[in-house]
Amino acid sequence: MDRVFDLIVIGGGAAGFFGAIQTAEMRPGTNIMILEKTSKLLSKVKVSGGGRCNVTHNCFKSTRLSQHYPRGQKVLKQLFKSFQASHTVEWFATKGIELKSESDGRMFPATNNSQTIIDCFLREADKSNILIEVNRSVIRVTTQDDLFTVICLQGETYYCKKILVAIGGSSNAQSYTWIDALGHAIIKPIPSLFTFNDLGKEFKDLMGITVPQAEIKIAGTKFSEKGPLLITHWGLSGPAVIKLSAWAAEYLHQTNYKFTVLVSWIGPVKEDDIRTLLTEHKKLKGKQKVTSNPLFGLPQRLWLRLCELSTIEEQRIWSELPQKNLNRLIEFIIRCPFAIQGKTTFKEEFVTCGGVDLRDINPETMESKKTENLFFAGEVLNMDGETGGFNFQAAWSTAFIAAKAIAEKNKFLKK
Ligand SMILES: Cc1cc2nc3c(=O)[nH]c(=O)nc-3n(C[C@H](O)[C@H](O)[C@H](O)COP(=O)(O)OP(=O)(O)OC[C@H]3O[C@@H](n4cnc5c(N)ncnc54)[C@H](O)[C@@H]3O)c2cc1C
Repeated sequence: MDRVFDLIVIGGGAAGFFGAIQTAEMRPGTNIMILEKTSKLLSKVKVSGGGRCNVTHNCFKSTRLSQHYPRGQKVLKQLFKSFQASHTVEWFATKGIELKSESDGRMFPATNNSQTIIDCFLREADKSNILIEVNRSVIRVTTQDDLFTVICLQGETYYCKKILVAIGGSSNAQSYTWIDALGHAIIKPIPSLFTFNDLGKEFKDLMGITVPQAEIKIAGTKFSEKGPLLITHWGLSGPAVIKLSAWAAEYLHQTNYKFTVLVSWIGPVKEDDIRTLLTEHKKLKGKQKVTSNPLFGLPQRLWLRLCELSTIEEQRIWSELPQKNLNRLIEFIIRCPFAIQGKTTFKEEFVTCGGVDLRDINPETMESKKTENLFFAGEVLNMDGETGGFNFQAAWSTAFIAAKAIAEKNKFLKK
């Protein structure tokens, strides 16, 4: 028989490298190989965060951190007790890499360059004598007598005692076939983190306008998010939209991405409060033109559009604004409807919702409940977060827990 490895890591991405390096650090001398399907290692790390790699988020409370995950929250809450964002910062510091926070909490290497992270992983893997094979696409894994056989599309076969599956997410259900064959239920993979395509034409020419604190709701559901909103030439984008796409990913998939959103350009407000405010304004600023004096800090062009949609003439002054138009204006300020048809994947960051069902995984070890010595980490799992460094954090945390369990499980080959 060919050489037998203590551990084969399937997938040369974030979780795969972190898991391999952690295992080697926790149990020096472990005989580890990483198999990577493509010719490139850590390719998502490279392009992540616009080439800067948003490594994690400066949220150092495990419960609070777990609340950024639409899927996997419960498991992560537990995992974060052992390895959360502060541990990530500490680990990189021990490797001489400083992470810095931005005002929104995202953390990047101080160099602002994802290559810093890649170089670190390649250096550490080399230090621990981790063997790396590229162009090895695993298509089948079988198990017999405590030994796994790992078969690649390219024809190679490898043997090992333990496996860490870290193949990342994929919207192609076939990517998971060999995992399915090992007894694992796969939750249908679908996209998360995207922007909304607007069918209408009313706002197209306002592309580039941002409002800092909007509220966006999916009509007829409880899904709603607050935050900055950006009008684009194809529809709606910005943190509030992308966050909403993550939390409502499954529902939106069911609608075939045809749904209505209602936007409050001024964030969550009670209709009565805004009505009282505008009625007061009518009295106090009666002589002012409605269209040319934007309220609530809204950009002039957006305000004008809301007035146009409310059929308020350009010359109309507040004191002469008919109730009917005032009602319409209120409606467009706090419940502006957009008929969405389709989505656009955000260039910077997208993830897979779905994957290996967490119910088949032991959350204390990331080991399969179906096949002993088979471990999972990263986006291959039905676990995903909002944008902001949360997806990498899930990769680091799951890989750390898996590595710890692998290193502690006393079934390595005798040297
Ligand atoms: C453009 C982009 C930017 C992003 N930016 C950020 C960011 O800044 N911050 C953040 O937190 N998240 C970001 N994400 C999400 C983040 O990249 C992923 O969540 C993270 O990479 C998941 O790590 P992983 O190791 O599980 O999967 P991956 O990093 O995708 O690695 C999986 C690896 O496994 C390989 N593989 C797949 N199948 C096989 C097989 N059968 N055999 C062998 N190898 C296989 C793949 O080729 C790949 O190299 C971004 C995503 C994208 C697409």
